[in-house]
Amino acid sequence: DPRLQGISDAIRVVPHFPKQGIMFNDITTLLLRPGVFKDAVDLFVERYRGMGIDAVAGIEARGFIFGPAIALAIGAKFIPLRKPRKLPGEVISEKYVLEYGTDCLEMHVGAIERPGERVLIVDDLVATGGTLCAGIRLLERAEADVVECACLIGLPKFKIMLSASILRVTVSAIVA
Ligand code: IMP
Repeated sequence: DPRLQGISDAIRVVPHFPKQGIMFNDITTLLLRPGVFKDAVDLFVERYRGMGIDAVAGIEARGFIFGPAIALAIGAKFIPLRKPRKLPGEVISEKYVLEYGTDCLEMHVGAIERPGERVLIVDDLVATGGTLCAGIRLLERAEADVVECACLIGLPKFKIMLSASILRVTVSAIVA
């Protein structure tokens, strides 16, 4: 697809951010180019439209940039999966392991309104898949059916990890 190169070119790689040795994939440069931003959203919409998806669950923070645009275009609701102590209502939480330490995602009780709702999880980037796994666990505890995870960027090592960590849920990524 000719749009892929433009998307890949619009993502800036910042060395040594947020710390020494990390090559940070910065999608804010893509957001400055509305045509390319639209191409990225359109590619997701083309893949997920017509799949009976009831909800798009976006992972804080960059899943909040792409998730709502996809949700509106495919006629789904949007569910924010947030970092701890941000959501005001009753929540369920899932901890996950990072390279150094742990983090946690929370979702409002009631965001999934009936068992079997079909959900797409959206984030900007998958590396080990740990964050997506926490999102999958949250949604499955609420009896949702997680159809797929969609990320703009899949780091090269992510393919190896996925079979081990994401179990039955497919992860799609636009660029490597
Ligand atoms: P994982 O849990 O190892 O798959 O890491 C993915 C999470 O870390 C996502 O929520 C990303 O937003 C974030 N992340 C990791 N590396 C980068 C990066 O280079 N750019 C932007 N986000 C990143």
